Amino acid sequence: MTTAASRAERIAALRFDYAAQGTSAVERCNLCGADTFLVLAHRDRYGYPAQAHACVSCGLVFLNPVMDAAGYARFYMETYRPLVSAYHGRLIDARTIQEEQRAYAAERAGLLAPYLRGSGLSTLLDIGGSTGVVAHHLVREFGLRATVLDPAPLEVEQARALGLETITGLVEQFEPGTRRFDVVAMFQTVDHLLDVGGTLRRVRALMAGRGVFFVDIVDFRAAYLRHWSVEEAIKIDHPYYLTEDTMTAYLGQAGFDVLRADYAADHLHVSYVCRPAPPRGDARPPSASVRDLLRDVRLVQSGPRPS
Ligand SMILES: [Zn+2]
Repeated sequence: MTTAASRAERIAALRFDYAAQGTSAVERCNLCGADTFLVLAHRDRYGYPAQAHACVSCGLVFLNPVMDAAGYARFYMETYRPLVSAYHGRLIDARTIQEEQRAYAAERAGLLAPYLRGSGLSTLLDIGGSTGVVAHHLVREFGLRATVLDPAPLEVEQARALGLETITGLVEQFEPGTRRFDVVAMFQTVDHLLDVGGTLRRVRALMAGRGVFFVDIVDFRAAYLRHWSVEEAIKIDHPYYLTEDTMTAYLGQAGFDVLRADYAADHLHVSYVCRPAPPRGDARPPSASVRDLLRDVRLVQSGPRPS
């Protein structure tokens, strides 16, 4: 059984000194550009002293300060999987995630099927594609040619063993030249990015005029309601905490129309199937969404958990 004390001991045994990592301060909201923030939480689910801020103009929630790119590169190399394993009290690594990934792939393929089957779309770029299990499933299901882009060398090795084209690296550094892709997917990836807006614009540029873009978020609102705790919904692996309102605005700004949104069976993720459209630079969450978010947060922080 995982008690709070044994979890804390396992995390402490990793000797990861979060406070000693290189960080940078967020000066402007990544979604709307405003610079007035409200601090929502002072620690994350692991107990690390990470602050989550909300932009008071648009409701975007993000870590501030946030580890810099070098810090995250080291974190993913050395700490991420052991930390998640310590938190859950069982081994989670490139091998053990494959079973979970297969179930995930089947569910997301069902959502994508109406847009891919018989569509004539042929190339897939899977950004943050990990061990390639999901891309491989889509290759078999829809006859796509897949390229997996991921920064973790051990995971990319497994994707290559499945016969997929692989590129080791971050989407922010990916140089596609003249290559374009019919289908671009970011499965369980967007919350890990350092620059969501910039990355979505890059993704849009990787697509021809037609095509399908898939992205899913861990819905921050679902996460804090599930745990009835804001801190339990914050984890240093995620610089961003997206909601339906902030993600929809991001997609509009980058130049995507949402064809279908989906509450995943886990009641935590929200998926979006999108197509390229003219960018709407002025897309913002509805004004009431900030007030609603902050009311929710205060209720969760101070009110009794519903039984
Ligand atoms: Zn904002």
